[in-house]
Amino acid sequence: MTPPLRTLLVAECRDGAIVPATWRALSMAHAIGASVDLLVLEPQSLADDIRGVARILTPSEAPPATALAQAAYIAHAMDAAEPAYSHLILPATAWGREILPRVAARLGAQPLSEICAVTDAHTFSRPIHAGNAIQTLTTDRWPILLSARPAAFAPFTPPDDAPPPSVATLAPPTEPADDPVRVVDFQPARGERPDLREAAVVACGGQGMASAGDFTLIEQLADALGGAVGATRAAVDSGLAPNDWQVGQTGKIVAPDLYIGVGVSGAIQHIAGIKDARCIVSINNDPGAPLHAVADYRLTMDLREAIPQWLALLAAR
Ligand code: FAD
Repeated sequence: MTPPLRTLLVAECRDGAIVPATWRALSMAHAIGASVDLLVLEPQSLADDIRGVARILTPSEAPPATALAQAAYIAHAMDAAEPAYSHLILPATAWGREILPRVAARLGAQPLSEICAVTDAHTFSRPIHAGNAIQTLTTDRWPILLSARPAAFAPFTPPDDAPPPSVATLAPPTEPADDPVRVVDFQPARGERPDLREAAVVACGGQGMASAGDFTLIEQLADALGGAVGATRAAVDSGLAPNDWQVGQTGKIVAPDLYIGVGVSGAIQHIAGIKDARCIVSINNDPGAPLHAVADYRLTMDLREAIPQWLALLAAR
């Protein structure tokens, strides 16, 4: 029997703020059609302007920033809820991927990860086989634990007259996790550019950039457009780009408004990471490059001529 629908969404917190992927997961939470509460594990990340949730739950003190400790708090929030939550949602970010299985183990539940669409309160879809097929899953085992693929959902926009949520304090778990891991320091690889997974523009270089010697041209293009830099696995493997720039099945999934693939052939494993981009531009000197076939705009040209010309046009604006 379907219990009353009630969703607990867990916010990802970083640097004293809630990570934007959380607001995309909130869109998925609303698609389920239940009332939504938000669990914010770091009280210092709370902001006054949070809307679109009925209630905010937060501990009086943040739990240790380790996966087991945070999972213990989330499982406790689920166990202590009265009435019970029917759904638990985390964003399918690196953080969410670490936490959700640990929560599932504590609750004895099977998580459904990387959800990209909601049909109803117990029917969900997710990509499989590197994004080449969509699997539809139905479950009636409550609670339903889900991770929301950020690229698949737009950030939630609350109505102008949405009331502020109430705030309740979450008591610590009676059995805190005995976590042997201690986080000593957290140093994200981050520069001036936007985060790849959240950028509106991604300029992505492939192995073809070897003809230009390095990634300088791609970095200049990204900076001129206020975007992030991505790379194919081949470009990473050949030392042209750092590992955390990799886009694709085994890299980052991106969903920018504009993706520009330069010297990128368009292998299936790369396409798996960019197929949610709203506009795809391909620059390649091979007219038969597979990326050309899926691109909205294709430029069959040597990148060593194309990028400087584009940069000159941008500079002249
Ligand atoms: P290439 O295929 O070598 O293409 C280079 C392109 O540059 C060519 O199309 C060429 O025409 C063009 N070019 C060359 N010189 C110029 C020039 N002067 N001007 C214009 N164009 C030029 N790949 C990923 O990207 N991400 C992943 O996450 C990923 N995961 C993988 C997982 C598995 C299990 C496997 C098996 C593979 C994975 N790959 C992944 C690798 C993938 O299969 C491809 O090998 C890779 O994406 C190819 O990268 P590329 O397009 O840069 O290189």
